[in-house]
Amino acid sequence: MQKALAGQIALVTGASSGIGAGVAKALAEAGAHVTINYHSHAEPAEKLADEIASLGGEALPVAADVSDEDDVDAMFKAVVDRFGTVDIVVANSGLQQDAAFADMTLADWRKVIDTNLTGQFLTAQRAVREFQRRGPRPVSKALGKIICMSSVHEVIPWAGHVNYAASKGGIQMLMKSLAQEVAPQRIRVNSIAPGAIRTPINQDAWASKEAMDRLLTLVPYGRIGEVDDIGRAAVWLASDESDYVVGTTLFVDGGMTLYPGFADNG
Ligand code: NAD
Repeated sequence: MQKALAGQIALVTGASSGIGAGVAKALAEAGAHVTINYHSHAEPAEKLADEIASLGGEALPVAADVSDEDDVDAMFKAVVDRFGTVDIVVANSGLQQDAAFADMTLADWRKVIDTNLTGQFLTAQRAVREFQRRGPRPVSKALGKIICMSSVHEVIPWAGHVNYAASKGGIQMLMKSLAQEVAPQRIRVNSIAPGAIRTPINQDAWASKEAMDRLLTLVPYGRIGEVDDIGRAAVWLASDESDYVVGTTLFVDGGMTLYPGFADNG
């Protein structure tokens, strides 16, 4: 049977760890050639590329800071030089720099907005330009697919993390407005909003039994999410199986956005 993403070219930002690495692997397993963007640590990206190659796939590690316009241009140039174009772009890079509101510095604010929101703007913009440049390809019904990695915090407020929550709220309207603008060109833009997924970004929330017990009070489905949960969602959103899905946030959160605190009348 033909793989869902056979012959397609993907780029995943922030793919040397966590969700990005899981998504890159899942896209490769579904038949895509994958560019693995990393920020500062080449080794895990190269290791993942070797792992994908050993499974019969093709992967290219590329360094870039997604908040830097020149870096993002160079990253897309590297993808096009190696693979000719790109069909699937997953804007995944993100970070937290937490502080109580009164103590949050402008640097804390800017770092998170620059990486999480401006980084997705630059990545998605270069993706749209590349889809438009090369025109339709027989590998997919869409001209191109963009997946923004959002968070349940695009809708759930998060005290102590206003920069992060603002960045994810911003991604919600970036994604929807862009989807509205480019859908007539058959470019599909959607988001995935993960709940609590076991990765380095939120290690404090699951590393000890006490922390995990506390976390699970927020998850009706009763388990933490794994990067594979997000990988499978990304493969579906990137494939023609979801061809009529446009401008939607897919929550992959074990029910976290069902506000379980209200289950017993609040
Ligand atoms: P992670 O820390 O493992 O991954 C984040 C990646 O982004 C890292 O590889 C990091 O190098 C990269 N990155 C950071 N700054 C960058 C920059 N300037 N340029 C390029 N890359 C940069 O954490 P993760 O949990 O895998 O997070 C991935 C995405 O998923 C983030 O956008 C995060 O907000 C989102 N998310 C995660 C969870 C969760 O529970 N883990 C929940 C909701 C949303």
